[in-house]
Amino acid sequence: LTVRYRAGLPPALKGVSFQVKSGQRVGICGRTGSGKSSLVQALFRILEAEEGTIQIGGVDISKLGLHKLRQSMSVIPQSPVLFSGTSIRFNLDPFSIHDDETIREALADAQILDAVDELPDGIHSMVAEAGSNFSVGQEQLLCLARAILRKSKILILDESGANIDHQTDALLQQAVSRSFEDATILSVAHRLGSIIDHDLVLVLGDGKVL
Ligand code: ATP
Ligand code: MG
Repeated sequence: LTVRYRAGLPPALKGVSFQVKSGQRVGICGRTGSGKSSLVQALFRILEAEEGTIQIGGVDISKLGLHKLRQSMSVIPQSPVLFSGTSIRFNLDPFSIHDDETIREALADAQILDAVDELPDGIHSMVAEAGSNFSVGQEQLLCLARAILRKSKILILDESGANIDHQTDALLQQAVSRSFEDATILSVAHRLGSIIDHDLVLVLGDGKVL
C-alpha cells in the first residue's frame, strides 16, 4: 500500500504490506511521523490508496461504499472528535437507538461513567466547544464508549501518546481488552507496555514496515 497526502509530497506509506488474521490484536509502533496515523486514515479511506489495496475479509475496500466501510469499523482517533453543542448522549448515540441504561453501561465499560456523572446533567450534559470539558484521554474513553455501543468487529485505536497519562492509558487498554475480546484490534501505542501482550507487533519506520 502506498498513500500520499497530496501530489508533490512524498508518500506517507511506501509499499506497506502485512496480514492480520481475524481476531488478532496488533500493536503498531514506530517513531513520530513513521506513518501510524496515515495507516489508520487509509483503513477508513480518508487517504485513498495510490498503489496497492487494503482487503478486509477478501474484499478490496476501494470497491466498497464509504458508508458501508466506515460503518463496519470503529476508530478511537489520536485527536478524538466530539460534537459540541450536543449532549454526551447524542455524541454516543446520534440516532437514539439505545436506551439510557445501555449508554450508561457502555460508559461504565469504558471507565468514564464516574466523570460523566459528575457533570450537572450526567449523560445529558452538553459537550463544550472543541470538547473542552474533557481531557484528550477522557475524549478517547468517550470514543471507546461509542465503539462499545456499536459492537464493531474491527477496532482501530490511535493512542494519543503524550496527551494521555499512564493511568488513562492503562484504563483504555483494559477496557478495550474486556469489551472487544473477539474483535480484531489494531492498536497504535506509544508505550511498549500497552502492546506487549498483543498477538503481533508491527513496527513502522519512514512509511515502511520494519
Ligand atoms: P505520531 O506518532 O506523531 O502520531 P505517525 O506515525 O502517526 O506519528 P503520521 O501522522 O502517519 O505519523 O505521518 C506520516 C507522514 O505523513 C509524516 O511525514 C507527516 O509529516 C505526513 N503527514 C501527516 N499528516 C499529514 C497531512 N495532513 N498532510 C500532509 N502530510 C501529512
Ligand atoms: Mg499519529
